[in-house]
Amino acid sequence: HPHSGELHRRANQRVPGGVHSNIRLVGPQAYVSEGRGAWLYGVDGEEYVDYLLGQGPNFLGHAPTSVLDAVDEASRKGTIYAGQHPLEVEASELLCEVLGWPDMVRFCVSGTEAVQAALRLARAVTGRTGVISFEGHYHGWLDNVLAAPGPDGSWRAASAGQVPGHLDDLTVLPWNDIDVLAEVLRHGRDEIAAVIMEPIMINSGVIEPIEGYLDKVRQLCSQYGVVLIFDEVISGFRVGLDGAVGRYGVRPDLATYGKAMAGGWPAAALVGRRDLMEWFGSGTVNHSGTFNASVMATAATIASLTYLRNESPYAGVEEYGTALMDGLRECAESHGLPLRVAGLPAAFHVSFGDEGVTDYRSLQRLDLERYQKLAGVLVDHGLWVAGRGVWYVSVCHGSEELDATLLRFAKALNDWS
Ligand code: PMP
Repeated sequence: HPHSGELHRRANQRVPGGVHSNIRLVGPQAYVSEGRGAWLYGVDGEEYVDYLLGQGPNFLGHAPTSVLDAVDEASRKGTIYAGQHPLEVEASELLCEVLGWPDMVRFCVSGTEAVQAALRLARAVTGRTGVISFEGHYHGWLDNVLAAPGPDGSWRAASAGQVPGHLDDLTVLPWNDIDVLAEVLRHGRDEIAAVIMEPIMINSGVIEPIEGYLDKVRQLCSQYGVVLIFDEVISGFRVGLDGAVGRYGVRPDLATYGKAMAGGWPAAALVGRRDLMEWFGSGTVNHSGTFNASVMATAATIASLTYLRNESPYAGVEEYGTALMDGLRECAESHGLPLRVAGLPAAFHVSFGDEGVTDYRSLQRLDLERYQKLAGVLVDHGLWVAGRGVWYVSVCHGSEELDATLLRFAKALNDWS
């Protein structure tokens, strides 16, 4: 392979911004060409312990054999598409079985599409158009759900202020504040089709719902006939086999999954109650897509879910994440740095600042920029992390990775401070 410097120059000629996404590594221009287990290998010979995991999908580590074999076997029999094949049936059944609560499934290619399908279904079922989402929650890159902070600090659709046009039907509220939601629902009861949230706010900084919050959201949605959608694209299969639904014991009407579901392959799903999901089959609501439920995606889903169900690696992930969080804290403390490491062992947030964060606004009190600078140094020292501060753990992280990480982290802090 060419070296990183050359790749970076060429990328900037052909890819706007040099990379496919607005989320990028900070600091060094590193390119990786291979991944195995919890490790990534750079084109210039570097070895990284991976805590980004592709923003979540590589929960089984890189190149998991059982998923590779399943995808290889399935695709060698023909990619089929737009056909009825047994893998879709088997994957749907297995998904419902491991999650425990949904009745039906529609597969999609990406999390964004699963969210779009959920919102369309909610609008069809309720005959209403409004959607409530929450500050700091990410639901994909489409205009109708992508919210971003405006210049005045309030939240609105991301296209507002950047591209012409605005979205009338999205209301973005502070999260973990049941009174605000109750008030808005009381006034907008005939207009609101859906409430959508990350049941654990992971994307902007790994904040759990406060005690009783999800229960009350559930009650309000039932009371006003609003469809409750849990976007578990990032929490699903990561914080437990049954995601946040299992963790907090609150059931939505619809939920979206992706990322960790298929062991690294692009696959996503919308799941939900039969009486809602059946609208798709009735012909009243369209949901289609050439690449949906491909043999590769469904084979990968089956292999990944089978592994997670049979091996139940969650205790190990929790143990690793807890040891890592403790280790990072101790190391920072011995360097006299006020590092804040908070969240869940399977996905946690690293920043500088105080405790007591319950929503997106209070998160802004942290020194996120200072961490962003550190992240660049960490990448230089062989830890693959993004500037946003969310670290993800895989089932492949073990004692070797823990030792390597803490050594590298200490070295990075030495060189930095
Ligand atoms: N919802 C959540 C909670 C996500 O974390 C993401 C991706 N970060 C999405 C939706 C969008 O998924 P995708 O990038 O696969 O379209």
